[in-house]
Amino acid sequence: MTAAMYDLMDFDEVLETFDPVMGLEVHVELATETKMFSASSAHFGAAPNTHVDPTSLGLPGALPVVNAKGVEWAIKIGLALNCEIAESSRFARKNYYYPDQPKNYQISQYDEPIAHDGYLDVVLDDGTEWRVEIERAHMEEDTGKLTHIGGEGGRIRGATKSLVDCNRAGVPLIEIVTKPIEGAGERAPEVARCYVAALRDLVKALGVSDARMDQGSMRCDANLSLRPIGREEFGTRTETKNINSLKSVEQAIRFEMQRQAAAIQNGEEIVQETRHYQEADGSTAKGRPKETSEDYRYFNDPDLPPVIAPREWVEEIRASLPELPWVRRARIQEGWKLSDEEMRDLVNTGALDLVVETVEHGASADEARSWWGSYLTGKANEAGVELAAVGMEPKQVARVAELVREGKLTTKLARQAVDGVIAGEGDVDEVVAARGLEVVRDDGAIEKAVDDALAANPDIVEKYRAGNKKVTGAIVGAVMKATRGKADPKQVNQLIAKKLS
Ligand code: ADP
Ligand code: MG
Repeated sequence: MTAAMYDLMDFDEVLETFDPVMGLEVHVELATETKMFSASSAHFGAAPNTHVDPTSLGLPGALPVVNAKGVEWAIKIGLALNCEIAESSRFARKNYYYPDQPKNYQISQYDEPIAHDGYLDVVLDDGTEWRVEIERAHMEEDTGKLTHIGGEGGRIRGATKSLVDCNRAGVPLIEIVTKPIEGAGERAPEVARCYVAALRDLVKALGVSDARMDQGSMRCDANLSLRPIGREEFGTRTETKNINSLKSVEQAIRFEMQRQAAAIQNGEEIVQETRHYQEADGSTAKGRPKETSEDYRYFNDPDLPPVIAPREWVEEIRASLPELPWVRRARIQEGWKLSDEEMRDLVNTGALDLVVETVEHGASADEARSWWGSYLTGKANEAGVELAAVGMEPKQVARVAELVREGKLTTKLARQAVDGVIAGEGDVDEVVAARGLEVVRDDGAIEKAVDDALAANPDIVEKYRAGNKKVTGAIVGAVMKATRGKADPKQVNQLIAKKLS
């Protein structure tokens, strides 16, 4: 970060004087077939304005109809977050003009959300648990998307025209809002990141969203305020928007802590405003002054009846919940007999699902953990990508492990096979064949290489016969060189012992 550009207080110094308070608002796009209030496809990625209909375009006379799946999935999320599910909840109109919202209002829930008062227990990096209290989880609809042309980096500033795509308008959203998170101190940025990660894992496990922060199907707004240590009353918060990765959630909180502390120390007043996260340098920039809810002129949407969630239905949904991530983790940890630390590494490196899938394709847990946890992690780091995007499928890793287990590849050769797959040279067996990697099993060829090496190193042979059995390394090395690394070292050692005995 180019710290010189910003007036920031040293992070540790912030904590000597201030206590951070956070509030996280996470939007999750539901992966339903159709939109929240109309029958157009809710899928991502189609040509602009092809997933539209009179309702999502806000045409006169069009009426919304509630998507039952959307309600069911909202209840699912609420239950998994230990929330109360309202027997009756309401949709309201949040009124504001924006070109990506043709109706001039967004259908949301206001004072009667479908789910409220829950919690999520979040595992922090060192394995300790942190309970995040949930204020509410409510249903709403997404807006369309604007693309600005002519400005720098697609920004509105300097743009000469803007294009509107209404495909996303009306896609179901669940907004999950935490109660103020207090007392986290230096761990506040970490708590924020771990909470969003836990929420992402949860909605993915529930099968209700693909929760791709990079594609906008999960988005986080982070509120932060500071108060002098020992004071009860909260300070004024800012709300940082457009945060699209876990790392950025952590950095946005950290940056706001440092920025607000410096501002307060300089005698400036913190104003309640929205800010924008700037990916390029991990900073936040001033947005607009914060609207209060009065500005939105909320009122109950007269086109929509209350949402009734009969208790039997809620209990049916509760019974249908899949295994939740923390239960699954406990089961896997026990099954593979991993220590807390080993399990944590697996989760923190993003390797858990990959390892599970690799095991499903026939590798042992140890083999799968070893490949994903070291060599492939190294490759991912080198390329600067997430482990899942390293270029190897779990199935391919399982195949590599199998070849090593069968003695057809040494670990060293297996790594070359992996390199080949990552480089796009084909599937594992194709790479092994094309690069000629398979361990040489031809006894004649290896035997000849051993004979040659022994003949070329009479001094070593002499020492060996004199009782120094450790000198064979040079012979093995020579054989490996002659076979271009494709001899099985174990077999070479056996041959040497046989020939010299
Ligand atoms: P808004 O309509 O402004 O987005 P919400 O109630 O939806 O307000 O969300 C505000 C979030 O900020 C909630 O998570 C809330 O717990 C949190 N919050 C409220 N007051 C403060 C404060 N002073 N400092 C930090 N977070 C706060
Ligand atoms: Mg909000």
